[in-house]
Amino acid sequence: MVEANHILEMKSKTDSLTGLANRESLVLQMRNGINGISGSAEQFSILHIDIDRFKVVNDIHGHDMGDQVLIAIGKVIDETVSADYAEHDYILARIGGDEFGVLLRVNCSDALQILSERLIEAMKQPISIAHFRFYFSITIGVARYPQDGETPEALVKSADIAMNHAKNSHYMAKVALYSDDFISAIIRRNHIEHLLFNAQFSTDFMLYYQPQFSTETGALIGMEALIRWYHIEEGFISPAEFIPTAEAIGMIPDLSTWIFETAMRQMRDWLSKYPKFNASAEASKPIRMGINVSALLFDSVDFLPQLEQHCKSLQVLPMWFDLEITETGALNANIHVENMFNKLSQMGFTISIDDFGTGYSALSYLKRFSVHTVKIAKELIDNIEVDSQDQLIVQAITMMSKGMSLKTIAEGVETVGQFDVLKRLGCDAIQGYYLGKPCAADQFEALYLNQSSAL
Ligand code: C2E
Ligand code: CA
Repeated sequence: MVEANHILEMKSKTDSLTGLANRESLVLQMRNGINGISGSAEQFSILHIDIDRFKVVNDIHGHDMGDQVLIAIGKVIDETVSADYAEHDYILARIGGDEFGVLLRVNCSDALQILSERLIEAMKQPISIAHFRFYFSITIGVARYPQDGETPEALVKSADIAMNHAKNSHYMAKVALYSDDFISAIIRRNHIEHLLFNAQFSTDFMLYYQPQFSTETGALIGMEALIRWYHIEEGFISPAEFIPTAEAIGMIPDLSTWIFETAMRQMRDWLSKYPKFNASAEASKPIRMGINVSALLFDSVDFLPQLEQHCKSLQVLPMWFDLEITETGALNANIHVENMFNKLSQMGFTISIDDFGTGYSALSYLKRFSVHTVKIAKELIDNIEVDSQDQLIVQAITMMSKGMSLKTIAEGVETVGQFDVLKRLGCDAIQGYYLGKPCAADQFEALYLNQSSAL
């Protein structure tokens, strides 16, 4: 009887798949810590670990494989934590389908940051099962007792909020320590979500256009279409803020349809009015329009047929357009990106890798992906006049790009000094406030198309 009770008790505390503790057991341990059952009030923390895009494994390989991978991931986490902490100083639990929690008898921010980074590093190693190799990344949210929550429930919630904050961050942060500021960010995001649901594309949004110039000749080589949202009460809301929210609420396909239609119609009208810029009419000054593409669209089977449909119904040619996709977006996209890029390229679009230098920055994959242009991120340009390291990086990017017949364009160029350095480093083209801010279509036309532009 005692034995049976013991087994039942173990079962109620254990996750049957991995043999680790379960969520209830983790919460119980936290409660014990808070109540000072060990003799004195404890200080501890909880790490909420989420496996990014784990769903893909189940979708493609089935749940049996998914289970084996979860067991293997649990082992990697356990090995990494146990390398730094004694057995009685932590408890590892599976707290959800693809989520793990670590209760740690430590609440010093530095130690938590170090452990989180070790875990992120450890997970970069592939997980091998049968003849498959899986690559995962993880996102970690950390909450400390007592400052981030005084009950187990509050702590679990704070760790979850921190994890989601890291996931939504634009800066590829993979770990976040809970802060009360995250709450105001959530309130703001909910507010933007509400405004987006009530927005009318055709009246509330418009596209601005920012010119791009050849560094060598000073000629206009194209423009980037950038969405603008003016809200009566809020004023301008930055796309850097609302595009990620639109992605999160599934609004990107509809919004993109509006963006493609508006941009393509505008380009068609401009090229028929100013044929000297029309590449298909053997123009003396061919230009292209850059359109930002959210990587989420790559997951949709409708994307290519819809793009073809837009070109047909609006009577535009793919060769007039350059599709910009961020470096991280390209690498994180679910389906075979290589395949998608090749198809777009075969259709006649060119492809730019946006914000290059902020993500993985591996130039080698670009050749395989039929990419045409590398857009060097503003972050690398900001201090290029004084920062010799940034100069070296940009020089390496331009040199390697040349070797692979890729074009380079620098973004966010604001001063003549930056322009001069970029010209010296061999960057092909420039976009930035120094030569022109994004502006409405009629203004763009008057400033850059109606006259031959030169530096
Ligand atoms: P991005 O694609 O990297 O666009 C460049 C951003 O840098 C634009 O901000 C542009 O206005 C700004 N910029 C250009 N030159 C300078 C400069 O010299 N100095 C400074 N400080 N900024 C400069 P914007 O328009 O606010 O767009 C932000 C981001 O929102 C874009 O970054 C892009 O990721 C996204 N976005 C904008 N329009 C669209 C769109 O139509 N579709 C999608 N999917 N995303 C968009
Ligand atoms: Ca862009």
